[in-house]
Amino acid sequence: MDLKGKVAVVTGAGQGIGREVSLLLANHGANVVVGDLNIEAANMVANEVTEIGTEGFGYKVDVSDKDNAQSFIDSAIDTFGRIDILVNNAGITRDSMLHKMSEEQFDQVINVHMKGTFLCMQAAAKHMRQNETGKIVNISSIAGKVGNIGQVNYSGAKAGIVGMTKAAAKELAKFQVNVNAIQPGFIDTDMTRAVPEKIRQKKIEEIPMLKIGSPSDIAKAVVFLSSDYSDYITGNVIEVTGGRYM
Ligand code: NAP
Repeated sequence: MDLKGKVAVVTGAGQGIGREVSLLLANHGANVVVGDLNIEAANMVANEVTEIGTEGFGYKVDVSDKDNAQSFIDSAIDTFGRIDILVNNAGITRDSMLHKMSEEQFDQVINVHMKGTFLCMQAAAKHMRQNETGKIVNISSIAGKVGNIGQVNYSGAKAGIVGMTKAAAKELAKFQVNVNAIQPGFIDTDMTRAVPEKIRQKKIEEIPMLKIGSPSDIAKAVVFLSSDYSDYITGNVIEVTGGRYM
């Protein structure tokens, strides 16, 4: 899969899945704008991209803020002249049982996942429509399909991302812009390392492949959906779960 000369923008890319996505996109030839709340982390990943041999550019962005998201996408275009690939990956959890969940916990999760994905897609799609080419990959979660206890906010946001993906895919198909989503299962990052060990082990035992996924398992699916190997695939959701919930 050749992404030589392509320009990719990845959100929440300072660590975890977003970092791995940025590095694998670079390994396939793409220049990468590495967006994250944490600018030090974003710059470190951008340096790793540059070491691979393409151009990396770190940017501090809060994807849930309209002006911030717009300037993030604008700066990618100012730097590289175009955007070919957008990966909406930034994410947080604010877990609580439904009867205890605060409005703030609900709003924070919806704002980062759903509003952030909306704002970045909207800003990038304007350019992709004009260029009549583009790939948008939204990172949902298997929680959006099955629902997780203690995650009404997160499960709702991740299901919402699937709906947004399909609606945007229908709108953008005639401009040859593909919009797809990935639903990761249980992946080894800081997000899941925060899960208590006993629950973590139980979740791993429930995976048919009997192992936790790695960020690179998700990155490989993102690269596929960012490449011309997926040119006739749009509005789709790929589950990367080791067989869980098949
Ligand atoms: P992670 O290690 O916590 O990384 C998430 C990144 O997003 C962090 O660098 C974080 O920055 C950044 N971020 C948070 N809020 C942001 C905002 N408003 N604007 C910009 N960046 C922001 O999590 P991960 O496991 O790699 O998750 C990546 C994506 O995969 C998320 O959308 C997550 O929901 C999804 N996912 C993960 C799993 C899993 O098992 N790990 C499963 C299904 C789906 P700070 O660290 O500075 O806050």
